Amino acid sequence: MAKRKSSSLGKYWGYLLFVVVIVGWLTQSVGPAGLIALSALTTVFFLFRAPVWCGALTRERQPCRKNANGLLMGCSYQQHKWQKLKFAVVPPRWRELNRGLWVSTEKSVATAAALCGVISAIVATIDLIAK
Ligand SMILES: [Zn+2]
Repeated sequence: MAKRKSSSLGKYWGYLLFVVVIVGWLTQSVGPAGLIALSALTTVFFLFRAPVWCGALTRERQPCRKNANGLLMGCSYQQHKWQKLKFAVVPPRWRELNRGLWVSTEKSVATAAALCGVISAIVATIDLIAK
């Protein structure tokens, strides 16, 4: 039981971190340097660790529904890993990559959280420089 709890926490700590970032902004208790670190960590979590659907396009032109770790990572199919990596670096494919990012509620939340993490890190950096 205890083991199971820690493994699910290991998968979802980024969501917790995301809440900490929001609270940090609302209360202004962390400071810009801390917010940059927390936001960057949150973004990394959602891009490379968060449990989401793979979302790569299958031969039937449907988003793949296998589990993957992180928005930019594919499922166990090597081809899907490459497909998503390719989509991420080739601007004309961004539309297709973007489509794969919103295929499920869980994934939309992860995508939004990753975007918030990026924005939060940028704003905190500006804040730090401006001071
Ligand atoms: Zn896949």
